[in-house]
Amino acid sequence: MEKTDIVSMTYEELENYVTEVLQEKRFRAKQIYEWLHVKLAGDFDQMTNLSKALREKLKAACRIPEMTIVDLLVSEIDGTRKYLFQLEDGSVIESVLMKYKHGNSVCISSQVGCRMGCRFCASTLGGLERQMSAGEMLRQVYEIQKESGERVSNVVMMGTGEPLDNYDQAVRFLRMISDEKGLNISQRNLTLSTCGLVPQIYRLADEKLAITLAISLHASNDETRREMMPVAKTYAIQEILDACRYHYEKNGRRITFEYSLARGVNDSPQAADALGRLLEGFMWHVNLIPINPVKERSFVQSDGESVVKFKNMLEKYGGNVTIRREMGRDIQAACGQLRRRYMDKSGKKEV
Ligand code: SAH
Repeated sequence: MEKTDIVSMTYEELENYVTEVLQEKRFRAKQIYEWLHVKLAGDFDQMTNLSKALREKLKAACRIPEMTIVDLLVSEIDGTRKYLFQLEDGSVIESVLMKYKHGNSVCISSQVGCRMGCRFCASTLGGLERQMSAGEMLRQVYEIQKESGERVSNVVMMGTGEPLDNYDQAVRFLRMISDEKGLNISQRNLTLSTCGLVPQIYRLADEKLAITLAISLHASNDETRREMMPVAKTYAIQEILDACRYHYEKNGRRITFEYSLARGVNDSPQAADALGRLLEGFMWHVNLIPINPVKERSFVQSDGESVVKFKNMLEKYGGNVTIRREMGRDIQAACGQLRRRYMDKSGKKEV
């Protein structure tokens, strides 16, 4: 029988499980939850205030998703730590810890691989291998907090995978990481980034989560967007913006738009002008990302001058524009590249 992923259970679910299935006292659930989500235990033997018998019972019925560090790169420039984790089925994923003045931010993966096919992104090259559980998303944050000894104050779902293509587990993760009985990270410090799956954005808006929604827009017209992102064939920019407006009405939080600049593709002043016009009437923040070249992909990074011109033009429209600071320039920090390199080296085949 497959063992139950105990880390993915909410507090209430764990209480039911402990009393109904394991036939133990209710207070045991509180102890176990605290071990898993506050003391960040990676195995049942650490749970020393439980009897040996109960620990054995847990071991027989449940599992704590494995998150084994197989590689760790530390930037000498800014202290960015890039983790390559191995999961129990042998798949590898990556997560990053970035240190900012306002706190430590962890970027997590939400799927093993990705099926969105964005043409500039390394994470999608081998397609989607499998979904990840909320427990596996939580354990990335937990293992990073333990290994680094740093308190994590922000989490961004911007690693490998499309979180809204793994909707239920992504939302479960957001609720559990902000649970006051767990790590209790404020929802205001959580960001979910999506390539723009419109029906799921509406659903997310109704979840009553005070998180930041980030949209990977990357183009100011549908034609260019379709060249960069296959998902643009399914949803038009206007449909995404309508969904964003609905999300804003429901949760009141300013939307972030990500815009990766590729030379000669989407980085002209005209494109900036069109983007500004598109966003009129929004409370917006645009995060410009000079595209990270990926060896299997043909996109080239915009030069510094074009980036600045783009920013100046866009700012005329009154929103907030930032240029994403490149973190960990000396380590392989571009999305999905460490994982690719590892898979190439170990000869791991992707499906
Ligand atoms: N699936 C989510 C999270 C993906 S990664 C999404 O699409 O939003 C987070 C951001 O990095 C996205 O905006 C993504 O489009 C962008 N990105 C991916 N590869 C990149 C690259 N090589 N250079 C610049 N940005 C990239």
